[in-house]
Amino acid sequence: MRELSVYIHIPFCKSKCNYCNFYSRPLSELKPVRGSAVFKQYAGLLIKEIEITSEKYSLESSHINSVYFGGGTPSVMSVYFFRDLMGYIEKNFKIAGDAEITVEINPESGGLEKLYALKSLGVNRLSIGAQSFNNAALKTAGRIHNKNDIYNAVNNAKKAGFKNISLDLIIGLPGQTKDIFYSDAKSIPGLEPAHISAYMLSVEKGTKFYEIRKKRKIKGFAFTPEEKIAEYYEILCRILNEKGYKHYEISNFAKNGYESRHNINYWNRGEYLGLGPSASSFLKLEDGKEIRKTNVPNLKKYMQNISKKFYGCGNDNKDSERNNDDFIEILTEKDKINEEMFLSLRTASGINAKRLSELAGQEVYRKVINKFIKEGLMENFKDDIKLTHKGMLLSSEIFARIMV
Ligand code: SF4
Repeated sequence: MRELSVYIHIPFCKSKCNYCNFYSRPLSELKPVRGSAVFKQYAGLLIKEIEITSEKYSLESSHINSVYFGGGTPSVMSVYFFRDLMGYIEKNFKIAGDAEITVEINPESGGLEKLYALKSLGVNRLSIGAQSFNNAALKTAGRIHNKNDIYNAVNNAKKAGFKNISLDLIIGLPGQTKDIFYSDAKSIPGLEPAHISAYMLSVEKGTKFYEIRKKRKIKGFAFTPEEKIAEYYEILCRILNEKGYKHYEISNFAKNGYESRHNINYWNRGEYLGLGPSASSFLKLEDGKEIRKTNVPNLKKYMQNISKKFYGCGNDNKDSERNNDDFIEILTEKDKINEEMFLSLRTASGINAKRLSELAGQEVYRKVINKFIKEGLMENFKDDIKLTHKGMLLSSEIFARIMV
């Protein structure tokens, strides 16, 4: 049976955060089609995309194990939007009885009424974008919530009956001193989330932080140095470990049984269908090809593509193609090998040593991997090779050295 995860991208936010390079538009920019009409219109587009891709890639009989509403800010959408989407998916696909259905919410839009409604629609996991518990750091990051909003959102989620609650945290926001970060890290277990995702701040092109850093000196504004970010990461790992959270992937921690099924599918190279502007899909075609398809990161162009059914899929044996700005890439054997190594090594279970030797090549295994083991960046555990904490911090450099 073909198993599939579904990611639904919501390209709307109330305002743009200073570190964010995800594709999203401020709601205020959608003046001509503002209000509930745009939500209904957007649900219609997503449903159309499901119809087109299902037909093109024969997805109709797939068994869906997880659905993830991410963004953007899914919690700005009306309950009717989720009802329309979930209703369509349930009617047209087989959804596993224990499927994980996640909605990302921002603390300021985690109202009780909406959470009750989401629960009744079958949503069983909430991912709350806390990012920090320090009001000054949140303000610098351009977040529009404060510490109290996080507590309210978590309490509302629990009242609405959610057991599977995840908190997102950013390590190394400007102004996050060691004391502030320590206090952030200590605040988390008190809220008893089942899952925590913690990402080290990286300043990406196209963000406000990137522009600020280019100007160099801004009075009263200091980015956190990389070595400090590494130190904070170690602090977080230690605190969460003491509180019984399993560090099951570089950026993810969970109580037993609450590991994110949706993300595990990504790391296992399972198939997923990404819907909405900027969303990516990974699909295995009947002829053995594996493709990665990324939708154009532009709402207007996305709408045009859907209405014109623009969905090329590499039928003509090109390695990659652009189709009205959707990007479709056929993975080469090298791509597949690299993905398997990197995605497995991101996880706490690592990769079977023999398999790693086959993938990386015996020469690289003997010289490079053994060197990493001696340097304490990797470790042997039974028959597997895993990254150590130190190795997780240097994962990009490690992957660059072993890629084929
Ligand atoms: S971080 Fe989240 S809320 Fe902020 S702009 Fe990006 S997608 Fe929107």
